[in-house]
Amino acid sequence: MATETVFAARMAPVAPPLGSASSELPSLIGLDREQLGETLRGCGVPERQIKMRVSQIWNWLYVRGISDFDAMANVSRDLRDVLKRHFTIARPEIVEEQISNDGTRKWLLRFPPRGAGRPVEVESVYIPEEGRGTLCISSQVGCTLTCSFCHTGTQRLVRNLTAEEILSQLLLARDRLGDFPDRDVPQGAMIPSSDRKVTNIVMMGMGEPLYNFEEVKKALLIASDGDGLSLSKRRITLSTSGVVPEIYRTGEEIGVMLAISLHAVRDDLRDLLVPINKKYPLKELIEACRNYPGLSNARRITFEYVMLKDVNDSLEDAKGLIQLLKGVPAKINLIPFNPWPGTNYQCSDWAQIEKFADFINAAGYASPIRTPRGRDILAACGQLKSESERMRKTERLAFEAMMIANHGEDD
Ligand code: SAH
Ligand code: SF4
Repeated sequence: MATETVFAARMAPVAPPLGSASSELPSLIGLDREQLGETLRGCGVPERQIKMRVSQIWNWLYVRGISDFDAMANVSRDLRDVLKRHFTIARPEIVEEQISNDGTRKWLLRFPPRGAGRPVEVESVYIPEEGRGTLCISSQVGCTLTCSFCHTGTQRLVRNLTAEEILSQLLLARDRLGDFPDRDVPQGAMIPSSDRKVTNIVMMGMGEPLYNFEEVKKALLIASDGDGLSLSKRRITLSTSGVVPEIYRTGEEIGVMLAISLHAVRDDLRDLLVPINKKYPLKELIEACRNYPGLSNARRITFEYVMLKDVNDSLEDAKGLIQLLKGVPAKINLIPFNPWPGTNYQCSDWAQIEKFADFINAAGYASPIRTPRGRDILAACGQLKSESERMRKTERLAFEAMMIANHGEDD
């Protein structure tokens, strides 16, 4: 990676804010159908019209992706005016939009307080690949879990995100990527899923989604609603560090694909890397995985394993991994460690990662190595951290020097 391209990424254009981003009115985004109906009743909509109005508004919000009440052509002006006075459907403000050399995009978004304390800033990342595009969504601002190799873990928890804030990350990404139908497309037309830019979402941004279960559930059920955003549950993956009691509920109540941040196969090491292991050790975690509703060879659990040089990357560890996962329909995703300023860990050597992967492959597991994406804009796994704690200039320069020195790893 040449110096110029590192700086080019940082200098990528900042997008203008969309809509009346600073509105502190409550949002209609993130309400389920029942709540939306209740809201309309409160606005004086007669009972016999509720169902129809809910489905009209649902279509405008989630199929057409509008963020302005006046675009709701089939909703009477009177109702639009009432809605406008009391509610918002505006997107969050885009504080910064960065585009990496590899096409990865990162947005820093600011949400107004909406009565829930102060405004918060959140990052989400879009990763385009051959035949698919994945949006990585945050569930909390910061995280309470302090995994020792994770940048987000060094930021204290500011607060849980609401269903609105979680969903808005998807809506905003689709706006910016041109992923909603044009205004002149007839009502009811959907972009076929094969033509969409965002084909998959992963709850792998900032925060631990299972420490914010109810709001994450609400957002994901809306994202997968067949008359709205219509993302297949098989294309939604929730990643957890191992909050055992909520794992079963995730399968039962949300029904999305599960990823587990494993990273170590012995309790003593996992206690250090992923401290929630002290509360829910490996035996309980693997048992919860075995009992995950809907699990089969066609619906396997992804185990994420970050490759840390001389920490968890020996062939002994690889052997332990295979033993641990025996009988669990599993995919193993090897993640090269993404460095951040101040970390003491290093990424394993590429040759070691390949050896590790070959060993696991030979045991019959698919073990793709996750290509680091968007490292130059700090958009890769575990590198997210919001404005409140962003790097000081000196830190950033040191980081850029480190990225240039590490250039070889990226190719
Ligand atoms: N809190 C959830 C989801 C967010 S983290 C969880 O821990 O699963 C998303 C993934 O990125 C996790 O697998 C996490 O372990 C991994 N990760 C965190 N920091 C990383 C880093 N510096 N390099 C590579 N992967 C990292
Ligand atoms: Fe939190 Fe996940 Fe980072 Fe651990 S890896 S600190 S759970 S975001």
